[in-house]
Amino acid sequence: MSGLSIEGVSKTFGTFRAVDDITLHVPHGTFVCMLGPSGCGKTTLLRMIAGLEEPSAGRIVIDGEDITPVPTHKRNLGMVFQSLALFPHLTVGENIAYPLRIRGVARAQQRQRVEELLALIHLPGFADRPVSKLSGGQRQRVAIARALALSPRLFLLDEPLSALDAKLREAMQVELRQLQERLGITTIVVTHDQREAMTMADLVVVMGEGRIRQAASPIEIYRRPADAFVAGFIGSTNLLPVEVDRAGRAVVLGQAIPDLALPAGMSRGLVSIRPEDVRLQPPGDGAIRGRVSFIRDLGGTIETFVEAGGSTIVAVTTPRERDDIAAGTEIGVILPAEACVVLEE
Ligand code: ATP
Repeated sequence: MSGLSIEGVSKTFGTFRAVDDITLHVPHGTFVCMLGPSGCGKTTLLRMIAGLEEPSAGRIVIDGEDITPVPTHKRNLGMVFQSLALFPHLTVGENIAYPLRIRGVARAQQRQRVEELLALIHLPGFADRPVSKLSGGQRQRVAIARALALSPRLFLLDEPLSALDAKLREAMQVELRQLQERLGITTIVVTHDQREAMTMADLVVVMGEGRIRQAASPIEIYRRPADAFVAGFIGSTNLLPVEVDRAGRAVVLGQAIPDLALPAGMSRGLVSIRPEDVRLQPPGDGAIRGRVSFIRDLGGTIETFVEAGGSTIVAVTTPRERDDIAAGTEIGVILPAEACVVLEE
């Protein structure tokens, strides 16, 4: 099978299981973001793919070849880590050419490849500059070019943008994604930034406590989170208690939600609904009754916090939709059934 397969991979440190029986297939050319809270095992999994850490169990297979016993330098990978480890005393060109030199590539070919890569990272003509004179974003691009010099079959990055300021990081996310699309290279990025994952990935792998909690497209993860952990980790969401009443209706905060059904055999759980899907209207008429506790007007969007039945519901609207709500007013909240995802408690 073309691509990367992680088959039943675990890693234990002493008695601690950092990665717990992970199985995942990544089709060739896919951009994967591994996402999760600190300590969930993302880096350990990436290091096992890179060959820097030996799995305690399982296999790692690339394009049908079991690479588990293959040492790092023979896996043909490109790697970028948080600390870029560029050689400060070398020029941009020398840094990029370094892996080519180690491989014994002829000088003329080295120069040609460096020029190609500089064009790719939008730094043409930078070959003779000292790296010490580059900005943070430029250094980042040089590290990426160096990792790609030998046309690796897999590109692995661990928190590659976390040292950059927010604005530059957002720009580099787009650039990295466009670069990956142009090269069609299978890429795995570890991040704890969900916005970064949503921007770049074809496939988001949400990890928690060494396991995959959900692996799906960004929009699927956002719209259909598999559990409360994923729902809470990706974007902001409202998690509200739901139960089935005697008449078999799904009830949230005392209000039956028409057309909302719980899975068979489930009598209570949680409803996840994104703030932009919550609708506000005058009280009554089948709406959950609440009171506006706070309004955060961000200019482009307005976040309205509603206290209802011991829970807080957040609704996001645009100024055009509503500008007539004030803190302290009684309000009705509608949770459209089609936007509700029922999860186990
Ligand atoms: P972060 O976002 O903080 O980098 P992470 O999800 O990448 O976190 P890992 O670095 O993979 O997490 O670590 C997972 C768990 O394994 C952590 O609890 C960590 O302390 C533990 N761990 C990692 N490497 C080792 C090691 N060499 N020896 C012992 N424990 C380790």
